[in-house]
Formats: sequence, C-alpha cells, structure tokens
Amino acid sequence: MSKNKSSESVKVVVRCRPLNRREESNGPAGSIVKMDIRLGQVILRNPRATASEPQKTFTFDAVYDANSKQRDLYDESVRPLIDSVLAGFNGTIFAYGQTGTGKTYTMMGAWMDPEKRGVIPNAFDHIFTHISRSQSDRQYLVRASYLEIYLEEVRDLLDPNHGNAKALELRENPDSGVYVSDLTSCVCKSIKEIEEVMNVGNQARAVGATDMNEHSSRSHALFLITVECSQPGPDGRKHIRVGRLNLVDLAGSERQAKTGVQGERLKEAAKINLSLSALGNVISALADGRSSHVPYRDSKLTRLLQDSLGGNAKTVMVATLGPSPQHYDETLTTLRYANRAKNIQNQPRVNEDPKDALLREFQMEIARLRAQLHHRKWRSKQKKEQVDGEDWEGDGDEETDGEEEKAVEEYVKLEEQRLEREKQDIREDQFMLADEKQRLLGEKERMMGDLRKEQEATEQLTAKYKAMESKLLVGGKNIMDHTNEQQKMLEMKRHEIAEQSSSEREIQQQMLVQDEETVELRETFTSLQQEVEAKTKKLKKLYAKLQCIKAEIQDVNDEHVRSRQELEQTQNELTRELKFKYLIIENFIPPEEKNKIMSRLNFDTEEDQWKFQPLVPAESKSLQMKKRPASAVGYKRPISQYARVAIAMGPHSRYRAENIMFLELDMTPPNTASLDRSTDSEPNQSPSLDGSPTKEGGVRKSRSWCQTPKSITSSSSNVSLAACHTATPMTAQ
Ligand code: ADP
Ligand code: MG
Repeated sequence: MSKNKSSESVKVVVRCRPLNRREESNGPAGSIVKMDIRLGQVILRNPRATASEPQKTFTFDAVYDANSKQRDLYDESVRPLIDSVLAGFNGTIFAYGQTGTGKTYTMMGAWMDPEKRGVIPNAFDHIFTHISRSQSDRQYLVRASYLEIYLEEVRDLLDPNHGNAKALELRENPDSGVYVSDLTSCVCKSIKEIEEVMNVGNQARAVGATDMNEHSSRSHALFLITVECSQPGPDGRKHIRVGRLNLVDLAGSERQAKTGVQGERLKEAAKINLSLSALGNVISALADGRSSHVPYRDSKLTRLLQDSLGGNAKTVMVATLGPSPQHYDETLTTLRYANRAKNIQNQPRVNEDPKDALLREFQMEIARLRAQLHHRKWRSKQKKEQVDGEDWEGDGDEETDGEEEKAVEEYVKLEEQRLEREKQDIREDQFMLADEKQRLLGEKERMMGDLRKEQEATEQLTAKYKAMESKLLVGGKNIMDHTNEQQKMLEMKRHEIAEQSSSEREIQQQMLVQDEETVELRETFTSLQQEVEAKTKKLKKLYAKLQCIKAEIQDVNDEHVRSRQELEQTQNELTRELKFKYLIIENFIPPEEKNKIMSRLNFDTEEDQWKFQPLVPAESKSLQMKKRPASAVGYKRPISQYARVAIAMGPHSRYRAENIMFLELDMTPPNTASLDRSTDSEPNQSPSLDGSPTKEGGVRKSRSWCQTPKSITSSSSNVSLAACHTATPMTAQ
C-alpha cells in the first residue's frame, strides 16, 4: 500500500495583488510589500516605523508579485502537485489571506478568460489533458464534489436543495481518512462536465448567501477531485491508484472583532473564526514539532484537512497579501502564519489498491453487464441457428459487438416474420375449428409478445452497459490532436525544470554567502587595526540582526498578549452565560427532571458533541409496536378467560354483575327531588332484574358508572355503596 515513505515539507508560496484604484488614489505611500522573485523573499515595510527601523524579510518557496500571471503560479507551484495527484498521491492547495487579497482570484479567477483562469480551472485542463494523452491500457474515473463550511456547518454545494439541506456530518475511515458522509459526488467525463459542476456549486454559494461579500469572506469553500486510475501491473493484474485533490478557498483571515458582542452574536463571532484559529493552532503545533497533541478535532476544517497537514498528502499553501499600508498588521500576521507553515512535515504516499476504489466497482459491474449481454445474445443466436438450421459454430467471442448485435436483430426480424406467416396460415386454414384457430392465434400472439419483451430487455441492458462504460475514461484517445500541444507542454516542462534548477542555484549561492561569513570569523589578520575594522563591521551587522530579532520577539509577544486578552474576554463572556444558564436550571427546573435529562445525555465522539438518547430505543420501540401479546389476538387488549366467557354469554345475568362496562349510560340528570318511582322508566332493564332494587333495600339501580358515587352502582355492588349514601333521596324511599 505504501510507497515512498519519505517526508516532505509543506510548500508555501506568497502572492501579492496589485494596488487597486482606491488604494492608488489614497496617496503616494505605495506598496508596503517588496518581493525578490529570484531569492523567493518578501520584504515588508512598516509604514508607521522610522526610517532606521529594519524591514522585515521572509523567505518562501516562491513569491509572486503584482505583475505575476495566473499561468506562472500554476506552472511553477501547482503543476507538480497535480502531477502527483495523477500518480496517486493526495494533494491539497489552500489559499490563505485577508479578505480582498486575491484568494478567490488565485483559486478560481475569471475562468472564461484564458489569461485569468485560476488554479481550479487550470487543474481541470491539466487532468483531462493528461488522461487523453496517457497510454491506452489505462482507465480513469474522475469525480468531483463541492462543499462549504459556514458557521461550523458543512454544506453540500451540489445538492439541488442546498438552501434548506441539513448540515452534513464528518466520518472517519481507517483507509481513506476523514470524509463527509452523504456528499454529492459527480462522475465527470470531460472538462465541460467538471466546469458545469463548478458553476453549479458557485451559483449555490452565491444564492445561499444573503450578503455575498460577507458570506464568502466568512465561509471556506472546498472543491474535491478524486482521480482513480487503473493500470495493468507487472504481475498482469490491474492495479488501482487513487489521487485525491482538495482545492480550498479559505475564509478571510482578518480578525473578527469580538469586543462588545454578546450572546448569539458572540457565539457566531467565535464560530466564524473557529476553523481558522483551529487551523492556526494545528499549524503551530505541527511546526513546533514538540507538541504531542495536534488539535485537529477542534474544527470541521482541520478535521477535513487532517491528512493535508502533517499527514498523507502533498500540500501547497498560497498566502495572499494586499500591498496597502492600511493593512500592515494583517499582512504581517499572514506572513508569520505562512512562515510557520513551512515547517510542517507531511508523509505523502501513493494510495494503491484501496478497498473503497469506485473504479473497481465500476469495472466489476461493467464485466457483469457484459457477461449478461453476451449470454442473451448467445441465446438468441442459438435460437436462430435452430430456426435456420444453419451452422453457427463460429465462436461468439471472436465476433465484434456490432456483428453480434446485427445477428440478434436479424434473428428477431426473422422470428417476427415467421410468426406473422404462421398466424396468416392459421387464419386462412378453412378446416380448422374457430375455437382452435383462436387458441393457436393467441399462442402466436403470446410468442410475439415474449420476443418483443426479450428484445426490450436486451436493449435496456445494452443501454445500461454503455452508460456505465462511458463513465470510464480510457487513455490514448485523441493522441493525434494533441501532438503539437504536447510539444508545447514538453517545452514548458523544460522551462520549468530550468527555472527550478536556477532557483536551486540561488539557494546554493545564499548558503555560500553564509558560509563565507563564518569563514571570515576564522580568518587571521595581518594587523591589529585590520582585525578591529573587520570585527567592528561584523559587530554592526550582528547588532542589526539582533535588533531585528528583538523587534520580532516584541511583535510576537504583543500579538500573543492581544490574542490572550481576546481569549480571556471570550472566556469571561462564556462563563457569564454559563452561570446564567446554571441559575435557570437550579431555580426553575425540578431536580428530578434535571436528573432525567442528565441521564439521557450522551457524548457523541464521532461528532464531538453532546446528544440526547431517545426515551425508548428506536429498535425496541418498533418491536413493542409490532409484537402483540398472545392472549390479545383478536382483541384490543389482553383479556381474561372469564371475560371471554362473559362476552360469549351475552347479557347473561350470571356475568352481568362483573361487567359494569356493558351497562348503558343513565342519561337522566341526578335527581335531588323526591323520586316518583312510577315515572322512572327503565325500558332496557331485563325482567329478572326489575325487581332487584326493591329487594335490596329500595336502592334505585342506576346504570351510569360515570356519574357521582351515588349513581355508580350495579346490581350487586350497589349494596355497599347504598349503605354509604343512605341520606340520598334515592335511598330515602
Ligand atoms: P478574496 O477572495 O481574498 O477576498 P478576491 O479574489 O475576491 O479576494 O480579490 C479581490 C479583488 O482583487 C478582485 O476584484 C480581484 O479581481 C482582484 N485581484 C486579486 N488578486 C489579483 C491579482 N493577482 N491580479 C489582479 N487582480 C487581482
Ligand atoms: Mg474570496
């Protein structure tokens, strides 16, 4: 599974956008960012500092100034990464920087304009061109997904129901790492199709936002491309390599002001930057190299990028800067952040034959459909052979699909003609009985129907087979069309290699200069004066360096204090809110209710949050609902043997006393006046019971069980009740 276990560091490049019109009109201050493209250095000038204060210099893998072209950045810094993805590595490119510094421009650009196409559209071209030029024994499957993280919720941008769709959950798989469950994944067969996917997602992003600017600067957008490639290995078997590419346009890195906000707004502000501050913490922990804990689980973004930061991936970070003096602090923070990210070590490896490769499933399904189709065609041919009496010994495998299809069509046509002819003969046969004729004609009709059904089924199967097959891209197509372009690419590659070696040389030179400096120290001097001069010079240099570092330490301390204060403030607010909630719980929620809720609480480690367990476990609930007690078969509820007999006996007096439920309601209102027995008609009373009230001490028998106690009586139980109510008019008689 693993090849090339060596580790490599995250590649960090910096890009500065040109001054915009508004910034130009602001005055002659100009840009605070200077770049040395040859050495890969960014020199930052503090607009508030005195002239004597040294400028800050940072060195990166590459730097792109205001005049840089989209293509330059792609060819130098992104192309090698996409090549790795095509070879089966995981790759990530993320754009980091303040809002308005060109993250979206770098990642997406104006994709209609070839000059301004960003990393994502250029990667599409690259991937599909590579596939069309690869050898014909390779099969590819390309899939794309598009999601955004907004307020710590993952949303699918390709879901047609995006606006109302529920947030997706993150899951972990030991093979492929962290992934988003139920995320839409579109199989793309061409540049046009994948561009369509990108446009659909971009539109969903724009529609979902009430204020596009606000939304896009606060949400992270991830475009994911999976390229699976199947290729015969030296062992003769097909091997699959899977490359996953994450193209990430992060939210604006500027600090969201937390001062003065409370409640929901505070939570929102905390969530907006949660992913970014977690990203910062992860980068710091990884760059530090000493911390044993890397807080990946603190946010959705860091969980999704877990492999890209310190894991199995090759990563390029593009830090974008604005040249305006107004944003000096943010620019400096971005540069520091980027500088730290350089130290992260990844361990990329080729993902070979993973268990969850979709390409393998596709290949198996295609083989199955092909076998089915082949079998059907073979059967049709066999039948044709029987019909014609011809010899179809020719081995089916040697025929092409087209020939086979033609043979089958021919067979169906002949068969139809034959049946038609036979039907005609039957109709014209004058010696046959009408009934017999009808029967035979019906039979032929049925055979005709079967034939058509079979043909339809074969057609459907063929269509399914072709649809499946068309999803797989095969290398080696259009090789002629691209010969010229290929030449161009080759030249470009050479150019690129030359450029890389020149930059390598520069680094070598830099090292040489540093070496010279140390050698100088060991030099012997002819005179004392000379030595003093040289050493004073050296001292001055070192002193300047020391000042630089001191200033740097001061800056870092200030920043640390600031972020600490912010954190403390957030903590205070949250503590206050927590106290308030506790107060409500203690004073307004009965302890037993609280305990019930507490016992149902359960921490979901998968989702990293507390959840309520259902009152009745879902499966046992459905069981309870389904299963009825054996004694209750045919009844609404369990019922005793005695009651069953009672029901069977009907209004038998033996059981009537127990069955108060069967007694009818007495609709007459409670009587408080003296009772005239002669008017008290009880039409439903059975003759045998009619006499009972008088026998039992003159108690009026009532049939209502839902009225006051005096009327809740039945023929046998009323005795005791009557004794308690001797004062009532009913008993007074
Ligand atoms: P972000 O996504 O970082 O908020 P955008 O990509 O939207 O910033 O860029 C803000 C503006 O600056 C856009 O109008 C964009 O066209 C312009 N811009 C950014 N970078 C460049 C560049 N390198 N060259 C020319 N224009 C740029
Ligand atoms: Mg943007």
